[in-house]
Amino acid sequence: MRTIRNFVFLVTCLFVLFINYQLVRNVLYPPVFYLTAFEIVTLSLILAEVITGFQQANQLSALTREVDRQRLIISDYVVESKLLSTIGEMMENFSAELSLQETLQKIVDSVAGHFHQQTVILQLFGEKFARVIRGKEIVVPDKVLEEVVMKGHPVLINNTGSFPEYRTFADQGVSSLLMAPLVRRSEVFGFLGVFSGKSERRFSPKDLDLLRMVIAPTCLFIENTELFEKTRILAITDSLTHLYNRRHFEDVFSNLLVEVHRRNQTAALCLCDIDHFKIYNDTNGHQAGDQALREIADILHRGVKGSDIVARYGGEEFVIILPETTKANALKICEDLRRKVQEHNFPNEDKQPEKDLTLSFGVACFPEDAEGPSELLKKADQALYRAKEQGRNRVVAA
Ligand code: GH3
Ligand code: MG
Ligand code: MG
Repeated sequence: MRTIRNFVFLVTCLFVLFINYQLVRNVLYPPVFYLTAFEIVTLSLILAEVITGFQQANQLSALTREVDRQRLIISDYVVESKLLSTIGEMMENFSAELSLQETLQKIVDSVAGHFHQQTVILQLFGEKFARVIRGKEIVVPDKVLEEVVMKGHPVLINNTGSFPEYRTFADQGVSSLLMAPLVRRSEVFGFLGVFSGKSERRFSPKDLDLLRMVIAPTCLFIENTELFEKTRILAITDSLTHLYNRRHFEDVFSNLLVEVHRRNQTAALCLCDIDHFKIYNDTNGHQAGDQALREIADILHRGVKGSDIVARYGGEEFVIILPETTKANALKICEDLRRKVQEHNFPNEDKQPEKDLTLSFGVACFPEDAEGPSELLKKADQALYRAKEQGRNRVVAA
């Protein structure tokens, strides 16, 4: 087009030169010739300009389209980089040895970082039930949960009011939602949802993709934390009695006494040992002995407060830490535990020397009997030894 325009200009210039040349040579044409020539030249120029205009308009719209395309690509990059940073943030915490609740909170925070001003809910079903919410409280009806579980893939709903099963969301001021099930070995164990209010944004398939991509690391992250928690619990628990093990007791004992000392409080340490347990094992077999150990552990565990610590100290020995407890109270608690064990019916216990399977206790108090943890343990052990010497099935104070 530009060439046509240049050509018209060239021809026009040549034509004007020719007329001037003829004028110099005194060659005159009739006026109508000049008029027509002038009109042709003008029209040609206008035509060339119009063509150029169209061409430029076309180029402009192509450019606008290109700008829009680039804008979309940039917004894709923004979404992708946000997604990567969301996943990256999650992965940063992957080996942070967090509790399950902390993990769920981190995931919700990361996802909420992408979906600004929207409510994000992460919920686990079943015995590990947990619910972390960022934003305003939203009740998710069971029917919707069932559908998410049944479908097993993410859903996007805009205009919740138009769908009967999602109308309860509209009643709660939620107009759009994204919900993705958390799946482990083809079993749905929870969901991650993003909920948008009336005046806020509608969700796009891109948002759904994003949620879908966050789900895999979310499931991994949760599974990793659960495994970590399981391992941590196994490491501090005695496998036979499910009480704390000796290592855990030793880990917490000194720190606990430091804390008790700092607060200017008292604490009691109780050591207890099953009486004539060798005889019980020899008479009834090792398995019956294990069962008796489990039952005694259960009595001790149930007989103290949640803040008290009961641990298996050795073979048939247990240790109890009673924080914020005076000696008189500790003796009362141990006497109560002793009585419960005595009253408990163990199979074949009538074959025991005293016709009963019983426990002996040694109790020492901090700071009354000792200045530090090892001295306190020694005092409790000595008291226990005296309880055995004095005939067993009794509580002796240091
Ligand atoms: P005492 O009244 O003086 O404490 O007598 P005892 O027989 O209880 O004490 P002793 O130390 O002689 O024996 C402890 C017994 O506890 C021997 C061991 O077989 C038994 N025992 C230790 N750990 C376990 C266990 O994990 N399971 C079973 N079944 N028995 C255990
Ligand atoms: Mg013993
Ligand atoms: Mg014993």
